[in-house]
Amino acid sequence: MPTKRTSIIAGNWKMNSGINEGIQRCQEIVKLLPETNAEVIICPPFPHLYPLSEVLKNTPVMLGAQTVHKKASGAYTGDVGAFMVVEAGAEWVIIGHSERRQYYGETGADIREKILLAQDNGLTVIFCVGERIEERESNVYLDVITRQINEVLDPSINFDKLVIAYEPVWSIGTGKTASPEQANEVHMHIRQCIYNINGGKTGENIRVIYGGSMKPDNAAELLAQTDIDGGLIGGASLNAADFCQIVSHAG
Ligand code: PEP
Repeated sequence: MPTKRTSIIAGNWKMNSGINEGIQRCQEIVKLLPETNAEVIICPPFPHLYPLSEVLKNTPVMLGAQTVHKKASGAYTGDVGAFMVVEAGAEWVIIGHSERRQYYGETGADIREKILLAQDNGLTVIFCVGERIEERESNVYLDVITRQINEVLDPSINFDKLVIAYEPVWSIGTGKTASPEQANEVHMHIRQCIYNINGGKTGENIRVIYGGSMKPDNAAELLAQTDIDGGLIGGASLNAADFCQIVSHAG
């Protein structure tokens, strides 16, 4: 009997929308949310976490941050610590998004520190990996994924509080989605990498979600794949109806 993993649909709002729009969108999501077993998460900008936690109180929709600093606290002007996002209502955090790697130079070592600290603060982490277009075209994409995983994860990580998001960089915000077969191949590979690191049932149980131009019209096919356990949604999460339609395809 294959493992039944609970699906996850997470919306990454990035640096979009003012607070009024964010509140309205959350209210609409709660209204339109279909019956689902999936865990549904919204990741708004930092200043919106607390006000949205008030809006989402007593609803099934959870909150996540888009990153946290790698140190617990201190003289890091402009940064936000893991304990602060927890105080503001976040239960989840995205770490290692390709935009953080690209624009802020986040390395595997940074990402590892962040994950350990986030988990110490009780957060569940959505750890992003994904290859660039030239790495796919030169057929080294599985090696890239292996490296991104092995430089960050080892048995000291709490795998019960870890989800991996496969986000091919060439598909983020481009409208170019990985085909279900392309995505599933990498998801199976990720599961094998996790098995190699932590053995036992971890590879089978870990949830691996797909991100990269997932939309209402391609979500069903992607989410039907054996090893795709949900989605990390950027653009389409800014529209409540589209986001809820994607949730309706998650089992
Ligand atoms: C993302 O940035 O995590 C993402 C998946 O974006 P989009 O859905 O817009 O491609």
